Amino acid sequence: MVRAKYRGPGAGHGQGAWPVLLLLLVAVVVPTACVLWFMTEAMRNERLAIRQKLTEAYRGQLLAVQSQLQTHWEDRAAALAGVDLDAGAGEAFADLVGEGLCDSVIIYDRSGRVRYPVDVQTEPDGQAPETAEWIHARRLEYEENDAGAAAASYATIAEQAADVNLAARALQARARCLGKTGRTGAAIDILARTLADDKYRNARTPDGHLIAPGAQLYAIRLMHVTGDVEHPDYHSTLASLVQRLTGYEDPTLPSSQRRFLMHQVQTVVPDCPPLPTLVAEDLAADYLESHPPGPAVPDSSPPLPADPLLAGTTDKEGPCLRPSRLPSVWQLVSPGRRLVALFTQDRIAAEAQSLAQTHVSLADVSVKLVPRTARARRRPPLIVVSAGEYLLDWELALYVEGADPLSEAADKRIVIHLWTGILVIVVITALALLVARYVSRQMKLTRLKNDLIATVSHELKTPLASMRALVDTLIEGRYRDRHQVDDYLQLIARENTRLSRLIDNFLTFSRMERNKRTFEFADLRVEETVNAAVEAVRERFTSAGCRLDVELSDDLPAITGDRDALITVILNLLDNAHKYSEDDRHVILRAYAADAHVCLEVEDNGIGLSRRATKRIFDRFYQVDQSLSRPAGGCGLGLSIVRFIVQAHGGTISVTSQPGKGSTFTVRLPVGPNDE
Ligand code: ADP
Repeated sequence: MVRAKYRGPGAGHGQGAWPVLLLLLVAVVVPTACVLWFMTEAMRNERLAIRQKLTEAYRGQLLAVQSQLQTHWEDRAAALAGVDLDAGAGEAFADLVGEGLCDSVIIYDRSGRVRYPVDVQTEPDGQAPETAEWIHARRLEYEENDAGAAAASYATIAEQAADVNLAARALQARARCLGKTGRTGAAIDILARTLADDKYRNARTPDGHLIAPGAQLYAIRLMHVTGDVEHPDYHSTLASLVQRLTGYEDPTLPSSQRRFLMHQVQTVVPDCPPLPTLVAEDLAADYLESHPPGPAVPDSSPPLPADPLLAGTTDKEGPCLRPSRLPSVWQLVSPGRRLVALFTQDRIAAEAQSLAQTHVSLADVSVKLVPRTARARRRPPLIVVSAGEYLLDWELALYVEGADPLSEAADKRIVIHLWTGILVIVVITALALLVARYVSRQMKLTRLKNDLIATVSHELKTPLASMRALVDTLIEGRYRDRHQVDDYLQLIARENTRLSRLIDNFLTFSRMERNKRTFEFADLRVEETVNAAVEAVRERFTSAGCRLDVELSDDLPAITGDRDALITVILNLLDNAHKYSEDDRHVILRAYAADAHVCLEVEDNGIGLSRRATKRIFDRFYQVDQSLSRPAGGCGLGLSIVRFIVQAHGGTISVTSQPGKGSTFTVRLPVGPNDE
C-alpha cells in the first residue's frame, strides 16, 4: 500500500501558542508600562503644580500679614517717637503703658540719664542729724524692748521736732511702738489720720522714701491683722494710698518705693483692684538692673548708646526690635535714644497672631511670628518670610494644621489619574485578549486547513493507488482464475467503501466547521437504525478471525434523531473497533435503555487506549499513533464527528479502555423529543 509522506496531523499542536503569548505579552506589557510611566510622571507633575499653586496662594497671604505687621510697627514707632518727653516722665511712662503701646518703657533725658523709673535723689544735708533723744528712743525700742517707753519718747520727739521729716519719722516710730504694745487703735489713728495731714505729704526717711504712703500701708495692714477692716478709715486710707501709687503726675514717690508698695498692697489686700502699671514697673526695674545706664554726657553731644546691645539701632539703620539682656524681652529704641520701649516675646507673637487671623483667609493654616533662633525644628513651617524691617530677628512662618492640604489636593487629582490609567490598562488588556483570541483562531484555522490538505492528499491517495494497481492487474489479465478476479474485485469494493467513508467524513467535518451541518430529526426505531448500520459493515466483519455480535434489548424505546447521522455514529465506532483491533477481533454492539436514555455501546478487544489518550481522542485530527506508516490509516476526524452528532442530539459519548485489552465506547441518547 502506497502512503504519501506528510507531517502528521496534530503534530506541532501547542507550538503555535508561543507567538500568540509573546504577542499578548508585548501588546499588554509595553502599553501598560508606558501608561504607568505616564501616570507616574503626570502624578508627580500634578503634585508639583498643586504644591506650587497653593504655596503661591499661601505666600500671598503671608506677605499681606508681613505688610500689616510692618504698618503696625511703623505706627507704633511713630507713636513712641511722638511722645512729649519733656513733660513728666512718670506720666509718659503711665500713658505709654496704659495705652498698650509697650509692655514697659525706660525714659532717658537728653544727656542719657534715666528719668523714669528713678528714685528721688535725696540731699544728705536735707535730713536732720540724729539727736540724742532719737538715739535714746531707739535704744528703748530695740535694746531694752520697752515699746511703751519708746512710744512716749518718740511722741516727745514728734512734738518738739521743728523738721517735718523728723516729726513724721517720730510719729511713724511711735505708731510702730504702740502697735507692739497692742494699742493698735492708737497706732492706726496716728498712721491713718495724723500722718495723712498735708504737711507730712512729702516727708521722707533719710534714704529718700516717702513716709506717708508707708504709714498708710502700715495702717491698712494693722486693720487686717486685727480684723478691723470695717474701720471708718479703712477705705479712705486704701483709696488714698492707691491714688498715690497710680498717680504718676506726682514725681515725689521714688519708683522703687512705688513698686514695693504696689506689691505690698496686692499682698495685704487680696481684693484690691489690679494695679495696671505694676508689671511694667517690674519689667522696667529688671531691665535697668541688667542694663545699668552709662555715664551722662553733656546735652549738646549726641547721646551715647549705653548698652552695647543697642549699637546699630540708631537712626541710620532705622529703629528695630532687638533682644535685651532679659530673657524673652525685646527693646525698641526711639530715635535719639530718649526712650527704650520693652516688649515681651509673647506679646509680640500674640499681636502678630491677631493680625494674621484677620488677614489669612485660608483654612487649616496658622501664621506665627517667631524669633529666628526659636523656629520649631520638630514641625518645620511650610513657608517662611522675613517679618519686616522692625522685626529683623523675627520671621513669619506659615504652618499647616492637620493633614497636609497640598498632598490632599494632589491626592484627589491623582486618584482621577490613577483610575484613568487603570481604565486604559483594562481596555488595552481586553483589546489584546480579543486580538489574541482572533489571531489564535486564525492560526488554528490555518493549521486546520494545512492538516486537512495533508490528510486529504494522504488518505485519498492510498485507496486510489490500491484500486489502480488492482484494476491494472485485471486489465492486463495477470490473474490465475476467476476466483482471484473475485478476490480483486472484493478488494476494490472495500477500498471504494473506505474512500466513500473518508469523503463522507470530510464533508461532514466541513459542514460541521462551517456550522452548515443540518439534521433532520424524526422518530426512530433504534433496532432499525442499528441494523442498517450493521448491514453496511457486515461484509467487513465476515472475514476469518473477525466476529461482530449485536445485542439489542427488547424494551428499546423510540428516540428522536437524524437516522443517517446516527448510522454514521455507529459506523465510525464499528469502523474504529475493526481498525484498532488486531487478529481474532471480537466486537460487540449493544443497544439498551437506561435512565430515560438509549445507550449504544461498542466494545472491542483491540489495542486499547492510555488514560491520557482517552481525554484527547475526540479532538479534531487527534490520532494516538501519529507516525506516517500507521497501519490503520484514517485522518483523526471520525470521533470528533461522532461527538458532534451525539451532542447535536443532546447526548453524550464516553470511553473506557485498557491498553492491550480493548475499549468500550458508550453513546447515551435521550429518549423523547429533541430540543436541540
Ligand atoms: P481515525 O480516522 O484516525 O480513526 P478517529 O477520530 O476515529 O480518527 O479516532 C481518533 C484516534 O482514536 C485514532 O487515531 C485512534 O488512535 C484512537 N481510537 C479510536 N477508536 C479506537 C479504538 N476502538 N481502539 C483504540 N484506539 C482507538
